[in-house]
Amino acid sequence: MSAPSPAKLRIPGRLAGLDLRRLPLLRFDVLVIGGGAAGASAALAAAREGAAVALVTKSRLEQGNTLWAQGGVAAVLSQSDSFDAHVADTLEVGCGLCEPEVVEHVVRRGPGAIERLIRRGAEFDRESDGEISLSLEGGHSFARVLHAGGDATGREIQRALIAALHAEEGIECFDHTFVVDLMREDGAGVCGAVAIADDGTWVGFTASQVILATGGSGQLYRETTNPNIATGDGLALGLRAGAILRDLEFYQFHPTCLYIAGAARVLISEIVRGHGGRLRDRNGERFMPDYHPGAELAPRDVVSRAVAEQMARTKDTNVYLDLSEVDGDPHQLFPGISRTCHLFGIDIARDFVPVRPGAHYQIGGLEVDLDGRTSVEGLWAVGEVSSTGLHGANRMGSNSLLEGLVLGEEAGRKAAGCLREVARGKILSGGDELLLERGEITVNADDVLYSLKSMMWRQMGVVRRASDLVDALPRLDLWMRAVVGLSAPNRSSYELINMLTVARLALGTAGFREESRGAHFRADYPDRDEDEWAVHTRIHPERNGDWIEALRFEKAPLGSAALGARG
Ligand code: FAD
Repeated sequence: MSAPSPAKLRIPGRLAGLDLRRLPLLRFDVLVIGGGAAGASAALAAAREGAAVALVTKSRLEQGNTLWAQGGVAAVLSQSDSFDAHVADTLEVGCGLCEPEVVEHVVRRGPGAIERLIRRGAEFDRESDGEISLSLEGGHSFARVLHAGGDATGREIQRALIAALHAEEGIECFDHTFVVDLMREDGAGVCGAVAIADDGTWVGFTASQVILATGGSGQLYRETTNPNIATGDGLALGLRAGAILRDLEFYQFHPTCLYIAGAARVLISEIVRGHGGRLRDRNGERFMPDYHPGAELAPRDVVSRAVAEQMARTKDTNVYLDLSEVDGDPHQLFPGISRTCHLFGIDIARDFVPVRPGAHYQIGGLEVDLDGRTSVEGLWAVGEVSSTGLHGANRMGSNSLLEGLVLGEEAGRKAAGCLREVARGKILSGGDELLLERGEITVNADDVLYSLKSMMWRQMGVVRRASDLVDALPRLDLWMRAVVGLSAPNRSSYELINMLTVARLALGTAGFREESRGAHFRADYPDRDEDEWAVHTRIHPERNGDWIEALRFEKAPLGSAALGARG
């Protein structure tokens, strides 16, 4: 398959159309968009450097992927473990596409990040002797995963970070404030953002440094572990501002989401398998040892594909987790999972738990250098929206919270060191005309959304092939035209455009990479190709006025992001 035909492409290059003279502008030094592990860490660090910081979230402050993280955060804390082992495990799982310098950097700063969190009041689970309790997870060769409240690690981290945000004088938080577009300053890069506030009015934030911490895009898929906020806004915002994106074909599917038709897809953490949970099919057969020597603790992509294949073989909609052999009382070990399953009449100590894969973690993102700088002046990216090179072609469990905590902190500090004046007269809004106008008929946005999610699941899911990807592209373009032409300009249509934009990017890159590696599996190119594809994939947007009319895909050698790809 070749890259998509540029002639058919019409991705909006801006959404907001505002007269800046009438827009209330709030002035800050640093604007952080997103309040999860990465955004909160960045905001706290920037404020400590003396910057006036605005932190904006589109929902309640705590609502993000961070809140839902279960298993934990990886860090080298035990005597028997070592930085070298954590680095080696990460590189192994990343299938040749990790940036070793970034891996080393993040891993070595893990203990410091944990110390900071504990100082901020986070309470991790401890053994009876008071030592922090460490678990083993897939891909890790040592027990190095810290957890809190059993399987409520993200909740505890988010709680501690929010308390710290509220205690920090230099930070003002704006929740329920949906960022629509980034603002640019004539000749000087990004200088703020325009947003729709809780009461539906528009508001502008000016800041000489803008940090995107908007998390992932799991909501693109019908089956996902991600909460509603995960609609890929940051990728679309970055693209519209001209930033380079990287490795978007790599999307991690979690192999074990609770599957009960009609119920939310709750994740059943890997920790359950780490404690001895077994995967079985409808006949009660344990199948993972047939697929990989690591059995249930094989890398996530391997387990996800094995589950999908076993579902097909046994003509079932799901497989099952059997917790009868775990090393302890499952109700005490996994209280959250126990509670959720109980709601559906499942006793996890006794019953098989129905599970299937779900979209979980966006591995690719906005290309950044080690400091978190994107290719656009004044624009930074941290956490799941960024592509730092830590995860390569596959993320090792519990490394993402670590990444957000370590690199979020550093980007916040660095951004606060780059402050400059933003001259109001030089701010470009992108144009006064609205791009979206309701036509004579309105588009059924819910229908488009559902169709998009189903199509992504079927055609861009655990297993991809050229015919599916090629088939999906014109449909996406059609939906984009319909939504742009026939939607009212409001938050949900903007969000849908962001999702269609990200889907377009991901499908294009998945077609471009003609091999299988890590989380990206092509049935028509099932082998890893070291000669051609031991490289990142980059997407350059090519604009024509208000529209992005072409996406240029290129191979980028490892190490090249250190340049920041500035241009
Ligand atoms: P998030 O925490 O997702 O925060 C995103 C923020 O951006 C939110 O505040 C949101 O409101 C804001 N935002 C988004 N768009 C806009 C917009 N347009 N305008 C304004 N604000 C916006 N990782 C681990 O390391 N260990 C685990 O055990 C683990 N378990 C997981 C379990 C589940 C169920 C899920 C879903 C993920 C898990 N992960 C885990 C992954 C990890 O939680 C995330 O990668 C990480 O928390 C992302 O943090 P973040 O700060 O980048 O984004």
